[in-house]
Amino acid sequence: MTEEHERREGHEGREGHAVQGIPVETLAREFGTPVYVYDAAVISEQFHALRDRLHPAVEIFYSLKANPNVSVCALLHRLGARAEISSLVELATVMTAGVPADQTLFLGPGKSEAEIEACLKVGILALICESIEELALIDRTAGRLGVTARVVLRVNPSFSVKGSGLTMGGKPRQFGIDEELLLSSTSLAAAHPSVRLTGVQAYLGTRFLSEETIVANTARILELAERIAAHVGFALELVDVGGGLGVAYFAGERDLDVELLTDGVNPLAEDFSARHPGTRLVMELGRYLVARSGLYVTSVRYVKESMGERFAVADGGTNHHLTAVGIGSPVKRNFPMRLLNRKGAAESARWNVTGPLCTPNDTIGRGVELPADLRAGDLLGVDRSGAYGPTASPVFFLSHGYPAEVMVHRGKAQLIRRRDAVDDLLGPQTLIPLR
Ligand SMILES: *Cc1c(COP(=O)(O)O)cnc(C)c1O
Repeated sequence: MTEEHERREGHEGREGHAVQGIPVETLAREFGTPVYVYDAAVISEQFHALRDRLHPAVEIFYSLKANPNVSVCALLHRLGARAEISSLVELATVMTAGVPADQTLFLGPGKSEAEIEACLKVGILALICESIEELALIDRTAGRLGVTARVVLRVNPSFSVKGSGLTMGGKPRQFGIDEELLLSSTSLAAAHPSVRLTGVQAYLGTRFLSEETIVANTARILELAERIAAHVGFALELVDVGGGLGVAYFAGERDLDVELLTDGVNPLAEDFSARHPGTRLVMELGRYLVARSGLYVTSVRYVKESMGERFAVADGGTNHHLTAVGIGSPVKRNFPMRLLNRKGAAESARWNVTGPLCTPNDTIGRGVELPADLRAGDLLGVDRSGAYGPTASPVFFLSHGYPAEVMVHRGKAQLIRRRDAVDDLLGPQTLIPLR
């Protein structure tokens, strides 16, 4: 429990059962449940913790993938983040949020011609290219539009790294172009006259919680970028060192020590900038920026016992929060969860927290320690849920739809996405005449 408490220090510990002073019960009454509540102050705190210590040459890009809500994106933009996107809707989102195109990077292994064209038309900072065939399509599209496409090469490095929930380098992957292929190719630039190669990107994994590993990865990517640029023959205008910075979710994990991290990364940035004055350095971050800000709130509908185990059946579950099922681990590990509307009995019990789906997999907490007197109507919260929540969940399963999302900004709670209604799910469908 002490470890648990330590881990929850900060946002959750400080705020108790309120977000910026607004009781969660009030929020639940106003906006209904299930609902995601994002604390804008926590996003700001996370951003500044890093921004204020990170070498000024390193720019922070927000990966919308982690939480694509337009208000979340706009908030991060106001704080000073740029954007990294992977679809037309994400492009529309950043435009709506006010992020200039030249502060936006587009990345993804399966870009369509329509996506490439849209990016070129708005003047995106760069397309991050993931294959030789894609490079040819970018070249043709730019040629047709009469523009020059700025392209950053995503490299699948020959080396791999440890300490990530998901290893990217040193393996056959659909992402990026193999380092070896780039080092053996000649005339890449000459063969694509409507492309200007401007940089190198590599992304080595997600959920890194070791400062040492992140520093070592950064050093290797900077060195890789120099090697690739020298061989392929272009000036490095930008190096994107990936990111994948994690936050602690589970017992035994601890949050990154930003000071330790920047003590390691900043000298690398300083050295690199001295060798390459004017080259932009980019760190792309999703989870780190938004995870801590989010609280997923559900209401308990029923409590029951089955063969000696206790179940709290709530109105939302994995259909909104698949990430809570467990990431990168065969064993079920629980996200931090708590009872939000009252103190509850001093005596605790082990609860399985489940949702409304008709599958045993709809269990967001297994054997979670919660008050023994849990009952229908109680509000349960899953902390650290601001990243990879509904966006990474099967929200259409059993036709429950997307949950409501609320942002608390400067002490005021506002709906930033209404929950799906029947028409949002049934509307796009067509009943054909059958006989
Ligand atoms: C998913 C992804 C990110 C964001 O990852 P986080 O771990 O959430 O920071 C950044 N870059 C690329 C290429 C990604 O695929």
